[in-house]
Amino acid sequence: MTGQERSEEKSECVSLSPMRETVPALPERVCVFGTGDLGRSLGLRLLQAGYSVVFGSRRTHSSSRLPHGAQVLGHAAAAQSAHLIFIAVQREHYDFLVPLANQLKGKVLVDLSNNLRKNQYPEANAEYLQSLVPGAEVVKGFNTLSAWSLQNGPSDANRQVYICGESVEAKQVVIAVASKLGLSALDRGFLSVARELEDFPLQLFPQWRLPLRIAIGLSAAFFFYLLIRYVIYAYVTQGDDISFRIMVSLANQVCPIVSLIMLSLCYLPGVLASILQLYRGTKYRRFPNWLDHWMLCRKQLGLLSLGFAFLHVLYTLIIPIRYSVMFWVTEHTVSLIRENRTTMFDTTTAWHDDSYLSLGILGFGLYVLLGITSLPSVSNVLSWREFSFIQSKLGHLTLLLCTAHTYLYGWNRFLSASTYKWYTPPGYMLCLVLPSVVLLLKLLLITPCVDRTITRIRQGWERGADQRNPKDSQPLIP
Ligand code: NAP
Repeated sequence: MTGQERSEEKSECVSLSPMRETVPALPERVCVFGTGDLGRSLGLRLLQAGYSVVFGSRRTHSSSRLPHGAQVLGHAAAAQSAHLIFIAVQREHYDFLVPLANQLKGKVLVDLSNNLRKNQYPEANAEYLQSLVPGAEVVKGFNTLSAWSLQNGPSDANRQVYICGESVEAKQVVIAVASKLGLSALDRGFLSVARELEDFPLQLFPQWRLPLRIAIGLSAAFFFYLLIRYVIYAYVTQGDDISFRIMVSLANQVCPIVSLIMLSLCYLPGVLASILQLYRGTKYRRFPNWLDHWMLCRKQLGLLSLGFAFLHVLYTLIIPIRYSVMFWVTEHTVSLIRENRTTMFDTTTAWHDDSYLSLGILGFGLYVLLGITSLPSVSNVLSWREFSFIQSKLGHLTLLLCTAHTYLYGWNRFLSASTYKWYTPPGYMLCLVLPSVVLLLKLLLITPCVDRTITRIRQGWERGADQRNPKDSQPLIP
């Protein structure tokens, strides 16, 4: 069949479905009050998502920087043209909304505002907005997004937005818009939660504060301790100026010490929690607040400790290229030649050195594995069993390897009197106390009889529960 015949046949065909005029659906109209940074970015995203956007502005003619396709009207006219209105104006200027109360009656107002600091005002901005326009349905939300992220498309981290408000219908309208913008909105409840949502963007690394303080405190304490023991001691007792050692040698002692102590601090709260549960004979009593808080920042403690371990590795790798080291090696070799002396190869020292280095490398390898699996993108694809195997079992193994690495570093110096300058132990000995205690306690906890009791407690068994509440032991059906 030729192309012409086919087209003729087609033209003779009669469509059996009724003739329908296709009227394109009008895009839903959304209003944005304020043509500032956030208003413009939000308007652009709304346009890209297929909405018709109308801006409510004080300056309806200076709209050159607005996204193409958006309309600009005065506040009253803009409010009348849409059911959903985003308020992208600073809270200080909200009083302009009072005269618009009639136009805003029954409308959904999304309060996007943030504050400069916590408790800046007696009430949340969204509650204040609701009090100004009681006839409108105020929803707090989208305030955790920035104008920048809206313009560039939200990344995984800020795809989540929180909303709250009194009206379920109003919240559903906002949730529908959020999902069309590619965001996922989580309903946090009534408008009384608004203050909490407004505080979110003001948070400054809340989980990192304690770990950072510990890291800075430990680094400062050990830096001064080692400064006195090495640099000042050498100057006072022998008149030697070895202050140049501060930059690398001292730093390379502080880093592993802080790293090992912080790694122990990661595992100590878990051990303490087990001991507390054993002592109480139940898991149904809350841990003290300090222990709760400590457990919550274990990841940050671990990551900081990994950072210090990494610095230790870098400092160690540059040892051979240091001027002072190259000088002493050359000096030693030249003096051997001059005095026509030779040194014997000591197998014990070689074994000691290799074992100490090997344990350090293995410990660091596992350290890195712990760090990688703590990343949300990795931990999300692990089952709970895999995650706890790596973080708990391999974590304790890492602590064991790093502790053994430090013990081997000390080797026979533990018993030498010259190690204890001014009767003080070296830093590496001090830092061994905590990991040794954690490992010993852990060893006790995994002995079969103790482990059995802890497992039962974690499965819901309570010591003395039958005596406390005899009814509990009675069968439900007599
Ligand atoms: P902005 O750049 O200062 O813009 C605010 C807009 O409010 C102005 O462009 C102006 O628009 C309008 N406005 C100013 N004074 C007014 C008055 N007296 N009466 C009525 N309207 C007035 O602020 P923004 O950065 O877009 O932030 C807007 C709101 O979003 C703030 O509450 C802020 O806390 C919140 N927020 C901002 C971001 C962000 O990344 N920028 C992120 C989250 C939340 P017209 O000239 O068109 O009237």
